[in-house]
Amino acid sequence: MRPSPLAALPLLLVAVLATTGGAAADEPSARALVSESRAAMRNDPERSRLLAEQALALLARQPDADLQVLAEVQLCDYYGERDRPIAERHLAAAQALLPRTTRPALAAMLLGCDGELRELAGDTAQAMTLYDRAVATAEAAHDDDVLANALYQRGYLRGVRGELASGLMDLRRASDLFDRLHQTEEGLNTLLAVALLYDRMGDHEQARRYFENALEAQRSSGLVREQAVTQHNLGRALEHLGDWASARASFDTALSLSQKLAYPRGEAYALRGLASVSNAEGDGDAALRYAQQAATLLDRAPDERLRAQIALQRGVALRLLHRAPESVAVLTDALKVFDRADSRAESTTARGELAASYAALGDYKAAYEQERAFKAASNELLKRQIEERFATLRVEFETTVTDRENQALKRENAASERALAQEQLANRLRTVSLVLAGILVAVLSVLVVRHRRASSRMHGLAMTDELTQLRNRRHVLATLQQLVASGMPGGLFIADLDLFKAINDTHGHLVGDEILRAVAAALRDALPADSELGRLGGEEFVVILPAADRLHALRLAEEARRAVAALDATRWLRDRGVTISIGATAYMHQDDLGAILRRADEALYEAKRSGRNCVRWMPREAETVAIDLTAPAAEPGPAPDLPAQAAWQGTRP
Ligand code: GH3
Ligand code: MG
Ligand code: MG
Repeated sequence: MRPSPLAALPLLLVAVLATTGGAAADEPSARALVSESRAAMRNDPERSRLLAEQALALLARQPDADLQVLAEVQLCDYYGERDRPIAERHLAAAQALLPRTTRPALAAMLLGCDGELRELAGDTAQAMTLYDRAVATAEAAHDDDVLANALYQRGYLRGVRGELASGLMDLRRASDLFDRLHQTEEGLNTLLAVALLYDRMGDHEQARRYFENALEAQRSSGLVREQAVTQHNLGRALEHLGDWASARASFDTALSLSQKLAYPRGEAYALRGLASVSNAEGDGDAALRYAQQAATLLDRAPDERLRAQIALQRGVALRLLHRAPESVAVLTDALKVFDRADSRAESTTARGELAASYAALGDYKAAYEQERAFKAASNELLKRQIEERFATLRVEFETTVTDRENQALKRENAASERALAQEQLANRLRTVSLVLAGILVAVLSVLVVRHRRASSRMHGLAMTDELTQLRNRRHVLATLQQLVASGMPGGLFIADLDLFKAINDTHGHLVGDEILRAVAAALRDALPADSELGRLGGEEFVVILPAADRLHALRLAEEARRAVAALDATRWLRDRGVTISIGATAYMHQDDLGAILRRADEALYEAKRSGRNCVRWMPREAETVAIDLTAPAAEPGPAPDLPAQAAWQGTRP
């Protein structure tokens, strides 16, 4: 006994509702009725039937082939367990509508319902063919809802036929699909079908645990019909385990639930179970009563295999009651049904019981033959069970392996995604640090350049006179030191502005400064490039003339004097010009710097004394002589070709 198929109807309904057109205020209610009918199937089959019939009545006025087929299938399902001729009529009606439907999956649903009717009629082979077609059709239609149900039906029947491994494969697929479609109840039913497989395989303990767990879930969800089915299946497992008291309790519960539901097939199953328990307890009368009640119920609810199962219990009870001939007849009839239904386990049991009844009858030949057939079938069954069990284990193993592989793959993907993310992060960090390093290098370069510039400026500042931008005293003297040390002799002179104080006093320091700058520029322009011009301090300049002898030095000094005297100072001074007095001397290798400057200074003093604006020379050898030589202001300078005095006199009043 298995839970209801066609479980995925609501989802297919949604699809149908989404695609079928048509106007009319009636139509939404027809849809709603079909949908509600489906939902009611589990807890109120009568209401379910009524709703489907109402939907069909509405659809007769507003035809919609897709919806009509769904309603017909619903009724086929309902009547399949209760009244076969009516079920067949609904099936035929649905088949007639099929050419006008838009969804190929509907054909698979009809095949499923057709298969179910054949299965109930005991025609397992035909039912199997129809389920195969249903699976193929649903697969081709890519309709997972319908496919899951077709797989469920086929898997269950494969189990009945003892094809446990392939049955399990179907049920596993169905279970995965239901999971993916989030159809938890259908998923649970599929697991129960798996439990039935375990029961058939001989693993009754495992089956019992499944059923007990499922019962709790069904009780809390209020799934009364499913509960009745599971109670019966649990009783079956307990029966196989030989736990008769528990089996009886289970069948009792299944019976009262089915009675409450007005579910005759469920009642018949439960009564068969109770008959079996009574037989086991040696109470043939009770067993016969239960079996009789069950058989009566089946007049309305056709189920060939169930009928044979009831007959089997009747046969056993009759033997217990010493009615061997009737027992043999009943068991022979049951065996035929089981053989036709290809139900191996049940055929084997029936043979065993038949052998016992023949023996009770005294027909030992027949008893021996049946016993032999029973042994052979038993061995065959055991062999098959073992084979199927291994095959089943393989399916379970492969499922587990696949699951594990999928998980491993997922883990691997996650790991590589993580690695990728880390690599990207690392790349980003690398880029950022490269950029930062670049910026750092640029900043450092700028700093270095600035520092260099700053220090060269500092150096320049340290060596330059701020007012005139000429070399300062320190620089010029350092140069002189180097030249003296180099061993190359040369000339040098100091130029001092004449009566400069008076300019400052009369015109102010700013004018004095400007005149100092103008004199510096005039000197720089007048002197050759290899000369070294600097400001010695105050209004005094110094000029070094490397490699110049006396004559050359005097000529350059005179040129410098003239250049200054030629300056146009009228913009500052209206009453006078600007002149300089020059004291010149020579320097030699190893000369003393102080002595050199002193000589030049003495020559300068001499120039001032001589009336200013002139050049005087102080020889290195005889400093005192030089002073004497240049003493008179009117006398010409030591270089006769230099008209220093004349220039002075010419420019000064
Ligand atoms: P002499 O012809 O004898 O050299 O007369 P002098 O006035 O030039 O000589 P003195 O030494 O008496 O005066 C020099 C003046 O130069 C004094 C000072 O005010 C001026 N002086 C020195 N340095 C600067 C300067 O940087 N700027 C200005 N404006 N004046 C300066
Ligand atoms: Mg001076
Ligand atoms: Mg002066």
